[in-house]
Amino acid sequence: METYSNINDHVQLHDRLFVTLFTEEQVQERVREIGAELTGAYRDKCPLFVSILSGAFVFAADLMRAFDGDCEVGFVKLSSYSGTRSAGDVQTVMGLEKDLRGRHIIVVEDIVDTGRTLHFFLDHLRSRQPASVCTVAFLRKPDAAVFPVQVDYVGFDIEDRFVVGYGLDYDGLGRNLPGVFQLSE
Ligand code: 5GP
Ligand code: MG
Repeated sequence: METYSNINDHVQLHDRLFVTLFTEEQVQERVREIGAELTGAYRDKCPLFVSILSGAFVFAADLMRAFDGDCEVGFVKLSSYSGTRSAGDVQTVMGLEKDLRGRHIIVVEDIVDTGRTLHFFLDHLRSRQPASVCTVAFLRKPDAAVFPVQVDYVGFDIEDRFVVGYGLDYDGLGRNLPGVFQLSE
């Protein structure tokens, strides 16, 4: 069975068909814009980008290269999602060993759905006494919000449909797609 094909404006992953939501060009333009805004706000602060694995690793890699100034990056592994529905409790699987006291933290998330992941992680971060914390989400589903979280920079607000690409997967596949695709109904 063919599990991967990418013809024009759609892609098949496993048993599902996805259609283009944002092209690579649209994604890259938006990342450059957010990078420029972050540069304006953090240029002399040597911020620490904290990327939530796995989904945000692609966005974080592009975003930090769109930042013009000294910066560092760290990774944290949490989990709250399997298949196409949000499920279960958020857990820290792999943490940040760095001392965060006095640091300016830029949390980088792939997508804010219910807000559970970010809400939990922000609570954790505050206990580690950073100088400041801001949040950047590549995508946000405003209709799905359950947990109150402030997202300071949003790539795109989208409808409450399952999406893949640019780091986001469907059961392991699709993270390498340079654009964003949504589940075709
Ligand atoms: P939340 O905790 O806000 O409900 O969900 C956030 C996490 O769920 C994201 O970091 C992402 O890993 C996963 N997620 C939420 N919506 C989607 C989606 O449409 N597609 C994919 N691939 N993952 C999603
Ligand atoms: Mg995630």
